[in-house]
Amino acid sequence: MKQAPDAPLKQLDDWDDFVATRYRQGKSEEEFRNYQADANPTVTEFYRQNHAYQTFDFVIQKKAEYCGLTRGKKSIWEMAEFLNTLVDDSDPDTDLTQTEHLLQTSEAIRKDGHPRWFVLAGFVHDLGKVLCLYGEPQWAVVGDTFPVGCAYSDEIVFPEFFAANPDSKSAKYQSELGIYGRHGGLDNVHLSFGHDEYIFQVTRKYVPEEAQYMLRYHSFYPAHRHGAYRHLMNAHDEQMFEWVRKFNEYDLYSKGRERPKQREILPYYQELVAEFFPEQIDW
Ligand code: FE
Ligand code: FE
Repeated sequence: MKQAPDAPLKQLDDWDDFVATRYRQGKSEEEFRNYQADANPTVTEFYRQNHAYQTFDFVIQKKAEYCGLTRGKKSIWEMAEFLNTLVDDSDPDTDLTQTEHLLQTSEAIRKDGHPRWFVLAGFVHDLGKVLCLYGEPQWAVVGDTFPVGCAYSDEIVFPEFFAANPDSKSAKYQSELGIYGRHGGLDNVHLSFGHDEYIFQVTRKYVPEEAQYMLRYHSFYPAHRHGAYRHLMNAHDEQMFEWVRKFNEYDLYSKGRERPKQREILPYYQELVAEFFPEQIDW
């Protein structure tokens, strides 16, 4: 596949794998704090770029570019197929396709007996990674998300890399609240741009609010894992983040399970997708 310039990660999933390692079940607080040791040089370089280039102005510009959903109509299935073209240097015998990753997440949710909209959220949650195929650099597609327009939390991984972000020199962006109101609600807060915001915008008309939160904030680790930025959240956000946390367990820990038996489970997913989405939607 043609790599966008500045692509430190060998595969986009190297970021997901790093996050999963960081939060490996049973890790002590001390082990967790040593996350830098788990980051290989490409992951570190990825975060260096992400923290340096995700400025407030960049986020506003990318939202204007993508959130109007003007890139044409496609079905969920067509987009899943398209996303599968992301990695072509993988080993077909061992590496999972992007769709298989999605199905591992959604199947784990389904096995635990969660509602259909929850399973659906699992199945679509990473489709926003097609941003990479639109030519966006890795640092604008994946990475733990964080608010722009206010002070950076120390709970964000590699906080030292924010020194290279021009926003770090701006007084109005570096107070605790920055441009936002206390408990003004996350819907008013701009997070660093990536696959979460894009899939949220694409699907928001069709899925329940709990699923919208799962999709929009699944990479917002500083908040859902570490409790940062509560001063920006309102009571409703707090409630909805229970669902985001529930979702995160499946996002993190369903990898490495058995390969989903696609042919067997496909009819279930065809029905599920058709229940919530029209044939084609705007992307
Ligand atoms: Fe994701
Ligand atoms: Fe994921």
